[in-house]
Amino acid sequence: MLFESHRVPKPVLFLDYDGTLVKIFPDPELAVADDDLKNLIGELDRRFEMYLVTGRALEDIRNLIGIRVNIIALHGAVGIIGGKYRVFVEDFERYVDLCNLLEKESLIMTERYPGLRIYNKRGNLLYHYGRVSPSLLDGLFGEVREIGRVHGLSVYMGKLIIELRIPGMDKGKTISFLRNGRSSIIAGDDTTDEEAFSSNPDAVKISVGRALAGSDCVLSDPAEMRRFLRYIIQREE
Ligand SMILES: [Mg+2]
Repeated sequence: MLFESHRVPKPVLFLDYDGTLVKIFPDPELAVADDDLKNLIGELDRRFEMYLVTGRALEDIRNLIGIRVNIIALHGAVGIIGGKYRVFVEDFERYVDLCNLLEKESLIMTERYPGLRIYNKRGNLLYHYGRVSPSLLDGLFGEVREIGRVHGLSVYMGKLIIELRIPGMDKGKTISFLRNGRSSIIAGDDTTDEEAFSSNPDAVKISVGRALAGSDCVLSDPAEMRRFLRYIIQREE
């Protein structure tokens, strides 16, 4: 009992997916959760309040992980929490409509930029350039920035992607709202996770792969991140 009274509260977990729990794939649809990861996510979900936080579309990430857990998608705009659909941004449907329109208008770009893939995330529009010739990238980035400027969307640069996003939306705000001051661990690997870190300075912040601004520690890759998560599961047993 003495030890019980010294136990620290369980942290709430906010875990990015791509680059944090799985390696980055040139084809994003290949980032399917392996059995080890499904098992790990399931165990974490049983023991902790846990959210997978991703820039992917909601259905996309649900299909990749294949098990039902709390998910925050589209960089914090929407989610499934306790099995219920939630929206965290005003006027969300307007952005869904805008993305449908811009997807059609952008298709011509796949001819100018061979290998370009465009993903309508129903709220964000993502241009994946993993298979586009490096010599064409400056032109592509210029075009996407111009579309963003004309339509009042934010432009985000990530690993092999350039993305048009709902302005003012970032993971950090939604995480801050959900944790509501509780002790938390936030893990991520990309610039978008720096937003999560800066909005939640009191959380424990883990970078994966490289040191992101505001992180408290750096783990080398998704394999090491999984080892850390297994360690905190063991600690709870
Ligand atoms: Mg990531």
